[in-house]
Amino acid sequence: MGLYDRMNGVGAHEVIIETPQHDLTLAHLPLQDFINVLQAYKDRIIDLKQDKRFQYILIFKNHGQAAGASLDHSHSQLIALPIIPKRVSEEIRGANAYYLYRDRCIFCDILQQEKEAMVRILSENEDFIALCPYAARFPFETWILPKKHEVYFEDSSPNQLQSLANILKKILLALNQILNNPPYNFLIHPAPFYGKDVHYYHWHIEIIPKLTNVAGFEWGTGFYINPTPPEEACKFLQEAITL
Ligand SMILES: [Zn+2]
Ligand SMILES: [Zn+2]
Repeated sequence: MGLYDRMNGVGAHEVIIETPQHDLTLAHLPLQDFINVLQAYKDRIIDLKQDKRFQYILIFKNHGQAAGASLDHSHSQLIALPIIPKRVSEEIRGANAYYLYRDRCIFCDILQQEKEAMVRILSENEDFIALCPYAARFPFETWILPKKHEVYFEDSSPNQLQSLANILKKILLALNQILNNPPYNFLIHPAPFYGKDVHYYHWHIEIIPKLTNVAGFEWGTGFYINPTPPEEACKFLQEAITL
């Protein structure tokens, strides 16, 4: 009672074991196995979406102890939540404000502008673009976005999953090479489900190598100090990608 609201915990937590082999990392999986991992993400989201209590499903990966991995064996995790998480609602609010102002998706506009600037784009294939985002929060932060406006990751076709596996593997290998197998997190940001009109949201993946500490300034402000500008990170990574 009083001002503290509570709710009962409800949700799901699943671990996706990416390979039967103990010493393989996701980046080094053969392409078809990589595609199977993405297909497993998709299948699990579609299944869990039937439970109307869940509003959001986050898929993420912690690689390396410093990025929070408690197990060596390559795995990713899925968490279904009864509420839309704070960081996602902030992104959605921002995308909505832009949509109301411009009548367009901010992520589509970012892709358009990045294609003109050509200083932060890392790689591109038929369906996806990988880039170091403008004003990146972290050194070598990388985003992967579908080129066409898509709201939900789980709507991806088999062909799109193959393109995604291709580009994600390429980026992970490049990070691995440039930064010597760094700890990293990646997360998939799809739109929330059910009854929410979020057609202006554009799903994406955020990859964050764990190279800096979130410390007093970051906690106190929500601002991030990034010693490696995204344009520079992009140049380094591009060298590894073309090798
Ligand atoms: Zn879009
Ligand atoms: Zn996001």
